Amino acid sequence: MSPKPERLHGPVSQPPAPPQLLGLPGSLLPTLVVFPRSPAGEQEDSMDRKETCLRVVVRVRPLTCQELRRGDQRVVHCLGDNTIYVNAAGQEAAFRASAAFDAGTSQEGLFEGSGMKRLIELAANGFSCTAFAFGQTGSGKTYSLMGPLAQSEGQPVTPYLGGLMQRAFVCLLEQTQCYRPGLVLSASYVEIHNEQVRDLLSPGPPRPLPVRWSKTRGFYIENLLTVEFGSLEAIMDLLQEGTRRRRSAAHVLNRHSSRSHALLTIRIHRKALSPDPSSCQQGVLCFVDLAGSERVKDTGSAGERLVEASNINRSLLALGHCISLLVDPRRRRNHIPYRDSKLTRLLAESLGGSGITLMVACISPSSRCLPETLRTLRFASRAKKVTTKPMAHRVSREKLLRSLEQEIQALREENLSLRQQLRLPRIRGESPATHTPPTQLPECQGESRAPGQRGAPRRAPGSARRSLSGLLQDFVLENEQLRCSPRPGRTAMPGEPLRRVLPEFLLQAASQPTAGPTRSLELLAGRWLLSTPAAAPAAVLSGQPRPPPASAPSC
Ligand code: ADP
Ligand code: MG
Repeated sequence: MSPKPERLHGPVSQPPAPPQLLGLPGSLLPTLVVFPRSPAGEQEDSMDRKETCLRVVVRVRPLTCQELRRGDQRVVHCLGDNTIYVNAAGQEAAFRASAAFDAGTSQEGLFEGSGMKRLIELAANGFSCTAFAFGQTGSGKTYSLMGPLAQSEGQPVTPYLGGLMQRAFVCLLEQTQCYRPGLVLSASYVEIHNEQVRDLLSPGPPRPLPVRWSKTRGFYIENLLTVEFGSLEAIMDLLQEGTRRRRSAAHVLNRHSSRSHALLTIRIHRKALSPDPSSCQQGVLCFVDLAGSERVKDTGSAGERLVEASNINRSLLALGHCISLLVDPRRRRNHIPYRDSKLTRLLAESLGGSGITLMVACISPSSRCLPETLRTLRFASRAKKVTTKPMAHRVSREKLLRSLEQEIQALREENLSLRQQLRLPRIRGESPATHTPPTQLPECQGESRAPGQRGAPRRAPGSARRSLSGLLQDFVLENEQLRCSPRPGRTAMPGEPLRRVLPEFLLQAASQPTAGPTRSLELLAGRWLLSTPAAAPAAVLSGQPRPPPASAPSC
């Protein structure tokens, strides 16, 4: 007796259609838009704080040449009513998704029918949106998100085969065109490899980045590089550059198997038009290309690949566990173990918070992949019941002012602490109780103070012992004086910086490998001071750095 059909979502209203329905072109499949729509340009208030289900769509890829050569049977079929029907010897099941895409569906068909456009619209209106691809290794996750591998490896892009990401970039740039110039788009790109988060956009050798938690931000990656972009070309370059750095390897199921989870996050920062035009919104659009679950027995992984596989499986298990708890109304109220993996930490907002999430479950139609296919469909079936309470991130004028005040206070404290370390005099508005009076630095011999001069003593040119801290003292003091009282008879031009610029050659010295950065900096600092007259502020109002003298004495 065959088992009862399973359901991905809701009752299957009709019995599974006979096989003659199979092979319908993707464009004929009905698509179900779960996210409520609002007229373009309006605030998305209809979504705000209303419980919303994860949208789950299923994509079945075509049989690969290898599978065809082996004579694998096609055991997964998409029926016309978003039902996925699995029928293999002794196993029969039907699942219902928000949308189902069969092997004939084009990349454009997936983009149009998946609800991706709506997700972009919501992100542009301040919501935190995530699209993630889930499924077995080799089931088409990377293909669905980024297109065939050639496109992410620096070869010419075939627009026809571009994935959800490339299409979303085009759509996002088009949709947000009207908000310019009050719009800033930026991107970050990371991978989670062997439970370590690595920045894919940061040049140089990859360093693991910590994932932290704060009350206001939730889980976030510290020291993450975020790059602003304004054109399609720029974001495509970032995608290619990052994907080139991502770990992938060949194994039995996929010649280019992704060995890490990759998260590309686009932040959309824009001035709100209404109801408070002085406020701003920050929307997020995140694409997650998960590494595929795999049975080591099937892939034949060993050594490093085996370590990767067990880390991938462990994090996917943690994801599955969180989802199981989130769909249980009683257990949901208790603790959800997001901290069990880096992946679940970074997806916490999308799964159980205020985000809006689209999941693309990818499956293979091959009889050989049946156990994993059923597992993916059951996972998708559970994920469909997860709800979030979407909330647009709008920052009101008052909140913005409050946060700026806090930032100024933090910077003041930092400034005070630095001034104390440099033993600089107190400035107006500073608490005297916390300030140490300036004392002469032991290493700064031969210093003199001009009559009426504020602050730390100026050292005479030619002084034999000059230190970096002495130079910094001068530097800070002069800026201080300029800020408080610009020199008489000299008016700063509009836009002219009212500060001294640390010479480029001093900054460059810090990276000189020969004598070690500190030593080089001290030497050049000495040279600079020797070449600067005692009445150095004469050069101060020039926004340009002073060039090193041609005949600087060698130290
Ligand atoms: P995954 O990321 O899930 O491990 P990939 O996206 O790398 O899998 O896909 C595995 C192989 O199948 C690739 O060669 C890819 O080009 C091919 N493939 C996947 N989905 C499709 C599809 N819908 N149409 C054509 N080829 C596909
Ligand atoms: Mg992949």
